[in-house]
Order: sequence, then structure tokens, then C-alpha cells
Amino acid sequence: MDILTNAIHQRISSLEDSHSEGVALTSAYDFNSALEAAQRFSGVTTGNVYSRFTNPSVDLFERKLATIEGGEASVAFSSGMSAYLAIAITFLKQGDHVLLASGIFGTTTHLFRQYFGRFGITASIVDVEDIDGWANAMQPNTKLILVETPTNPLLAIADIEELSLIAKKHKAIFVVDNTLLSPIFQQPLKFGADLVLHSVGKFIDGQGRIVGGAISGSYDFIQPLKDYLRSSGTCLSAFNAWLLCKSLDTLYARMQQHESNTIEVYSWLKTQDKIIQIHSTIDPKHPQSYLISKQQSGHSPILTFAIKGGKKEAWKIIDSLQLISRCTNIGDSKTMITHPATTTHGKYKHDERQKYGITDNLVRISIGLENPQDIINDLKQAIQSINTPSYFEPLEKLDNA
Ligand SMILES: *Cc1c(COP(=O)(O)O)cnc(C)c1O
Repeated sequence: MDILTNAIHQRISSLEDSHSEGVALTSAYDFNSALEAAQRFSGVTTGNVYSRFTNPSVDLFERKLATIEGGEASVAFSSGMSAYLAIAITFLKQGDHVLLASGIFGTTTHLFRQYFGRFGITASIVDVEDIDGWANAMQPNTKLILVETPTNPLLAIADIEELSLIAKKHKAIFVVDNTLLSPIFQQPLKFGADLVLHSVGKFIDGQGRIVGGAISGSYDFIQPLKDYLRSSGTCLSAFNAWLLCKSLDTLYARMQQHESNTIEVYSWLKTQDKIIQIHSTIDPKHPQSYLISKQQSGHSPILTFAIKGGKKEAWKIIDSLQLISRCTNIGDSKTMITHPATTTHGKYKHDERQKYGITDNLVRISIGLENPQDIINDLKQAIQSINTPSYFEPLEKLDNA
């Protein structure tokens, strides 16, 4: 059976006759006897105990996601960041070292540098595209490698298979953040990742309704994370899990539409003379096209383009839009636009932004599910509103923006 058909037909067993499975809004569960309670608590028998760590709706979402991701099991969390926190607390100890890919979600870098640094865990950043750089950055105490592929907002690719070999050689755990593609377009476990992480409020929910996180992998990696969840309490709510079950059923159809809209907008942007560069894996000249065709089966609906000019022109385009939302989120049915240098990457120092290519003339769009011609028409009038400048704004001035 196809994995998507299989996922759609998974049910909560106690609600077998309701065609659309209900939401298990309960904190606790009845036990038939004192013995049953004792056995459930001690883990001698499996079953529901308390919704902080066992809930039928959350369990259904985890099973559906594991099926689509090609993993043995999944565990859900209250947010993508609490999923990262779970990995760090479960698998690291004082004195360990972590390698983070350049271009990884800024808050993830902040979590490791700012907070785990205080507990004696060090972190280094490696250029995501530089395989030799990864091998050289490994230290005897490197226990964890975290990458996001493609990266946001520049759509650089990490070589999942090569990195998994480097990680295995050093007995480090290799985690891939798959948020930008969803399991429909990329299944990192097949290429050797130990764990795959999602901020599930992005494409997996896809409708901008919730915040949540999830991790998938083998039983051996997921069970310790579930044990941690019981102690940390950073659980996904049953209601959000129920919404996410519904979202998974339409994920394939939505990703197809996101992708075809993205191709249309990309093709139109290519014809615009005020656009000097477009970052997308759709670009046939993308420097890592071999890896893209190897590990991706579709393109991320994130498009980032550089316009002639600087912050002034970027902001002018953003402020002239009438349909597209000024919103720093990604993965919604509505198209959203943002200026990375002053929002998502505003915490980085100016030099760091330059080093990672987050220039002031970059604009990032998350393409939604609207009719693509309406997205193009809105971008057209916004781009027409800028006057091409004859100079580039001095970048230093922008640091306090
Ligand atoms: C949003 C995001 C996160 C953080 O997830 P939250 O659910 O917002 O905590 C992590 N990684 C990526 C790639 C994201 O886009």
C-alpha cells in the first residue's frame, strides 16, 4: 500500500467507528483495577497513563508522521524549538561539542551558543556546503551534527549522505531539519540521517494555525526522547495533534500546489530586470543541482531574491504589496514576505550576515496556495514601485535597524 494511503487510514483504535477520528481531549485515563494502574505506570503493560506523555490524538499524529517520513517512530513536542531542546538534553552532556550548519534557523544557533554554553557544551558553525570543512571541524568530543537542508533563506544544500558518513565515523548523532521541504519532498532517514526534525506549524500544518515540533527516526533514538518528554512536559496538545492529523492527510496535495505556484513565480521573477539574483533549488544552474536531484523529490516553496539597491528598495517592495502578507512565518496557504536582514537574521552581527550572504537587498517569500497569477500581479506592482537607485546604500548604517 502507498505510504500516504496507509497514513490517511490510520485510526485511534478506541474511536474506530467514527469516520473522522475525534480529538482525545482528556488529561487522564480510567484503569480497570489497581493492578492495571500499577502495570501501566511501571511500563509492564502499554497504554495511556496521562496526557503529558500518552494521548491517543498525539499518538495518531506521531504514527502518521513516522509512516510518511519513513521512520520507525516519531515523537511530538510543543514547538520546533522544544524538539531541539529535547535532542540536546537527551543526548548531550557537559564537555560535549556540537556542529551546526551555517544558515541554520537563528534561534537554534542562539539556543546552543547562549544557553548550552553555560553548561559546558560548545558549538561551532560550519559552512553547510563545505564537506572538507565538516570533516575538519569534527572533534573527539563532537556528539551532535545539526543541519537544515535546504537552508533558509538562501536555499543552500547539505549533502545528507556524506554528512551521515562523517557522523557515523565519529559516533555523532546526525539530525536533519526537514521543515523547508516536508517529508513529501525529502526523506533524510533514507540517506542516513539518525533523526529528522520538523517545526510542524510550517508546511505540515500548512495553514498557519499552530506551533508544534516533531522528531522521527528509529525506535532506539525515539524512545529516549519520549522518556525525556515525560520528565520535561514539553508536549503537543491533543487538539493541535488532531489538527495536524488532518493536515497530514492533505500534505501531498498541498505540496504539489505550493511547488507548481513556486515554479510559476520563479519563472516570472527571472524576467524582471530589477531582480539581480533568485535563490531557489528550481534554478537549473544551482551550484548543487546534483545533490538536489539526488535527495529532493520536489522544491521548497521558499524563494529569496536580491533586488537592485538595498534596504530602502527591499522595504519599499514589501510595503507596496496589497495581497501578499508582511509576515515572517513560512509554510502557510497565504503567501508571505519578509526582509531577512532586519527580521529573522536581525540578531546576527552585520559582519556575520555579510559572511552568510544575508545582504540588505534580499527579500524572502513563502509561496502560498493562491492562484499564482494573483501572486505575480501583486509582486509586479510592488516591484514597479521602486526606482532603481544609482548607488548602493552604505551597509553600516543599517545595523541598528
Ligand atoms: C520555525 C522553524 C524552527 C523553529 O520552530 P518553532 O516551531 O517555531 O519553535 C526551526 N527550524 C526551522 C527550519 C524553522 O523554520
